[in-house]
Amino acid sequence: MLVADYANGTWGDPKIVPYGAQMMAAAPAVAHYGQGIFEGFKAFPRSGGGAVLFRPDANHARMNRTCQRMAMPEIPASIFIDGTAALVQLDRNWIPESDGAALYIRPVMFATGEPLGVRPSDTFRFIIETCPSGPYFSGAVDLIAEDVYVRAFPGGTGAAKCGGNYAGSMLASLEAQKKGFHNVLWLDGIERKWVEEAGLMNVVFVIGGTVVTPPLGGTILPGITRDSVLTLLRDMKVPVEERRISIDEVFEAHAAGRLDGAAGVGTAAVIAPLGRLRHKDREITVKPMAPDSVLARVGAELEGIRSGRLADRHGWLLAI
Ligand SMILES: *Cc1c(COP(=O)(O)O)cnc(C)c1O
Repeated sequence: MLVADYANGTWGDPKIVPYGAQMMAAAPAVAHYGQGIFEGFKAFPRSGGGAVLFRPDANHARMNRTCQRMAMPEIPASIFIDGTAALVQLDRNWIPESDGAALYIRPVMFATGEPLGVRPSDTFRFIIETCPSGPYFSGAVDLIAEDVYVRAFPGGTGAAKCGGNYAGSMLASLEAQKKGFHNVLWLDGIERKWVEEAGLMNVVFVIGGTVVTPPLGGTILPGITRDSVLTLLRDMKVPVEERRISIDEVFEAHAAGRLDGAAGVGTAAVIAPLGRLRHKDREITVKPMAPDSVLARVGAELEGIRSGRLADRHGWLLAI
């Protein structure tokens, strides 16, 4: 793992050390006031012992936006990007060779100070851990639209990849699981009407041939998979709309036979087709994703770029 510490207003030199426990304060500031954030992306193997990182610059930029929101110090590229490259080089043989396999990369940053008062910590630790990840075959994901809890609201931290967003969502996930669903479909925090995210993924709907996804704007996590998928869809000349979509519109499109597909999108699964969707006392089942559907085709396109079978025409891969 890579470790770097921030103190006295500056980042110290990063070190790569064996994965393991580390000394720190008994109750570091992150445990009191929650300054803890993370990222997630992947490295893919190349023949001859090489590897590529997928859009590490986008994850770096997003982590720094999260730092700003959480009053934490930004992390320089010399630690985030160069550190990831050095670590993946060292861990190269942990990347499984099977099709679709990768090395999952998890940067985390957390407050290590020993606080008395409520204020931003003045010391932080940044760590990058990695772990092998096999190909991810997602079955249909069943979601229940959440009408009690909310994930985010305007002015909150919904666009930041901070641990607190996850802590606040776990009870809703557990309750959804007790009701027989995999997770919740998050609705907006004010009207409980507009669809925001599919559990821990961004969400897309295919309605009458157009791909519709909620717009970024503070309450939605700006997924790098979301951005990549929208870019590839536009390349494929598929109409794309980033606009608000209500839960009623989803059910009405289904009733009218116009809901051609729906999926969660994120680094782990790329495209995770949705199955059952419940909202209050009504339920629909989304059409299974056919191999020639627009979502399956864009998923294959992205997989092709990550694996090197297709040209990297957007410059998304960093070879190491
Ligand atoms: C990380 C995350 C996503 C997906 O982001 P990717 O960069 O595509 O992996 C979507 N929603 C939430 C809440 C997330 O934390």
